[in-house]
Amino acid sequence: MIDSIGKSCEAVDAGSERSLVNSPPFSRRSFLAKTSCFGAFYAIARMIPLPAELAGDSRVSQTPIVDKGFASVRRVGEGLYATISDPSKGFQTLCNGGFLVGKDGVLMIEGFGSAAGAAFQMDALRMVSQVPVKGALDTHYHFDHSMGNGFYAGNGTPLWAHANTAKRIVESYGAMQGADKAVALAPLEKATKDSKTELARKHRDENLGMVTNIFNIVNGTVLALPNHPIDPAKLPMKMDLGGLTAVIESYPGHSGTDIIVRVPEQNVVYTGDLLFSGLYPVCFDTQATVSGWRQTLKTFASWDKDTVFVPGHGPVCGQEGVALFRALFDDIEGQAQKMYKAGVPAAEAADLYVVPEKYKNVSIFVWDFSIAPTITKMYAEWGAKQGSGDVASRQFGSVRR
Ligand SMILES: [Zn+2]
Repeated sequence: MIDSIGKSCEAVDAGSERSLVNSPPFSRRSFLAKTSCFGAFYAIARMIPLPAELAGDSRVSQTPIVDKGFASVRRVGEGLYATISDPSKGFQTLCNGGFLVGKDGVLMIEGFGSAAGAAFQMDALRMVSQVPVKGALDTHYHFDHSMGNGFYAGNGTPLWAHANTAKRIVESYGAMQGADKAVALAPLEKATKDSKTELARKHRDENLGMVTNIFNIVNGTVLALPNHPIDPAKLPMKMDLGGLTAVIESYPGHSGTDIIVRVPEQNVVYTGDLLFSGLYPVCFDTQATVSGWRQTLKTFASWDKDTVFVPGHGPVCGQEGVALFRALFDDIEGQAQKMYKAGVPAAEAADLYVVPEKYKNVSIFVWDFSIAPTITKMYAEWGAKQGSGDVASRQFGSVRR
């Protein structure tokens, strides 16, 4: 399975590197040849395994208990572990996760990008504890957090998730498995061809590459759905693991299915993709809400100044990670508002954000998953007409039905 993912990434590479923004026009072939699949997602994670702010924190172990390249696991509290991915070295896990070990039970976090990724985390758990696993939890439905669910299914592990997660996995990825690839990707190819500027073409081309990657990963996976739906109306929910209490909460922002796991007694939070560390926000989801997300981040910022955050992607961070992420939203808003006031249409503005010097080390996953929909969603919230080039609908709309 990993091989097939590897091959698909090799064949249709869509790594997005900001340095290419200002590079001369390139052929698709050369772009594919020189970038690595999902590489940009993790440029930061590779460089800073642990930010300086947490280097002296006694909760956080300085060396991981296991490091397989594609992911490492380190202690972030009493009975608390974080799994941090680095897809530049393999696509098994793709996202971050972790596990909470009480006296009576363990909660595993994330289904990861493949069953092999979930199995890796289980092996890491067994290096430190033999306590039975009470359940696993997908923080949301996205492929990189749910394609390994089959591992839990095969082990009979109860799988928790937001009540809409199963439905959205079926709608998004079940539909992809039944779709004709050429037909599904045709609108994205057309968008690339119809691009009016070189910059727009580059963004559309990256988008096409990434959706193709996702298509291939999804089609190489036997989907497995969470069987313990969490009704957000009934949250917060406490999970007693024996001397360790996890609190499950839901917040708006990234996917409409976002769940976080908090351990208030230790000020440790597993945020899923409501927080990225060292990356621009990924706002492509039809149910992503910029204002809702920023409100959620305001809540995160109000928590204890010593909170340790295990983000959905990027290294473990403290409140400085939340502050940076909020500042990125502010910066996009500042530039978008100027364009909005100047009458630049949303679809055009979506390509025109310029990364300021101070954020040059912040990674962008794929422009059309990240910057572009953040801008068009801001425009929509300001009451602008979206026009015909709605970026958000370019993502999966074509393969959903
Ligand atoms: Zn996500």
